[in-house]
Amino acid sequence: MDFTLTTEQKMIQDLCRNFVKNEIAPIAEEMDKTGQFPYEVWKKMGDLGIIGIPIPEGYGGGELDWLSMIIAIEEISRGDASLGASLLATVTLPMNLIHTFGTEEQKQQWLIPLATGEKIGAFGLTESQAGSDASAIQTKAVLDGKEWVINGTKQFITNAGLKHNSLVVIAAVTGEGEGPRKKISNIIVPTGVGGYNFGQRYNKMGRRASETRELIFDDCRVPKENILGNPDKGYAQFLMTLQTSRIGFAAHSLGLSQAIFDVSLSYAKEREQFGRSISKFQAIQFKLADMLMEIELARLMVYKAAWQKDNGENYFTTSTFGKIFAAETAKRCADRGVQIHGGYGLMDEYPISRYWREVKFEEILDGTSEIQRLNIAKRVLKL
Ligand SMILES: Cc1cc2nc3c(=O)[nH]c(=O)nc-3n(C[C@H](O)[C@H](O)[C@H](O)COP(=O)(O)OP(=O)(O)OC[C@H]3O[C@@H](n4cnc5c(N)ncnc54)[C@H](O)[C@@H]3O)c2cc1C
Repeated sequence: MDFTLTTEQKMIQDLCRNFVKNEIAPIAEEMDKTGQFPYEVWKKMGDLGIIGIPIPEGYGGGELDWLSMIIAIEEISRGDASLGASLLATVTLPMNLIHTFGTEEQKQQWLIPLATGEKIGAFGLTESQAGSDASAIQTKAVLDGKEWVINGTKQFITNAGLKHNSLVVIAAVTGEGEGPRKKISNIIVPTGVGGYNFGQRYNKMGRRASETRELIFDDCRVPKENILGNPDKGYAQFLMTLQTSRIGFAAHSLGLSQAIFDVSLSYAKEREQFGRSISKFQAIQFKLADMLMEIELARLMVYKAAWQKDNGENYFTTSTFGKIFAAETAKRCADRGVQIHGGYGLMDEYPISRYWREVKFEEILDGTSEIQRLNIAKRVLKL
């Protein structure tokens, strides 16, 4: 086994670290306060090739591996949770779906602007009655001549409504399936098309600059050609994509955990009590040692899942382990980090208080930790 990063992977890591230091870290607090998405930073990320890393050069990408992309998501999330969330939500979901299942025309029209960062994409699966139970979606698409007519409402959709959000790939019921399962297909719905409107922008406790909205489809018509891949296999398509997004979410948790460790270590070294640095107290040292150890354990699993994807191996188990463990690592790190900061950890002036608000998202989005454990029981243990 070789655990060393390749020259390209190291280069992406360094590029993203420098970018975070110079462009993201200085505005992270402000983004949390204002909830404003930084378009100019996104544009620079696109110009540097960070957004389209795993996409072929012919479609505006860098033609590198998924591990490089996962490292980029980790590093950007280390700088800011909102930007990391917007990045993983466009790359691992709509871009991944269009790249994997799209026709040549769809890739030319929709993938290139996403990969270059000119536009940003969204993925709409969740509905008010269909969260963990994704098969319960009710949004319907009915073929009428050369158009799909879509009716329904999606909720909690990341990146939707941003001013350069070009499309949402939605999962919609398109007919009766075999057995009790409905036929679900994935359809590209461009922003601005008649009958497609954005609902309220949610006010969240964290990830405030990453927009999340409700989507309303009221006799929304899109061309027949906007269907993605085999219309009979939409359910399997998004399950495949959610496997990739699990690695992305895990990388997000990893970045956040690392940021928490960084500020906690530096605070522990600076703060003095009883005439010495609190980093000299064993109770503090144990917290830092546990954080470092768990972050590295999570990283090994997350990188392994990405490596398996790159090498055509089955990564269901590792991506699921990685998602749960990295999310829970982030939560434990945040808890220890606030404790290390004492009272100052509860103050807005210290980034640790923001991180503490951010980490709870990790255990809920993209399949809660309970659902991931159920998946292990069902798919791995066959219970
Ligand atoms: C900020 C944000 C951004 C999001 N972005 C997107 C997006 O871009 N696209 C998208 O499609 N969705 C998105 N989501 C939706 C997200 O993936 C769901 O919120 C998540 O899957 C959980 O669904 P739910 O909120 O309906 O919770 P529920 O399914 O109602 O679950 C509530 C609780 O019940 C538990 N539970 C449910 N079923 C079981 C079971 N069988 N066994 C044990 N426990 C169970 C859950 O684990 C959880 O603890 C986003 C959500 C948020 C908050």
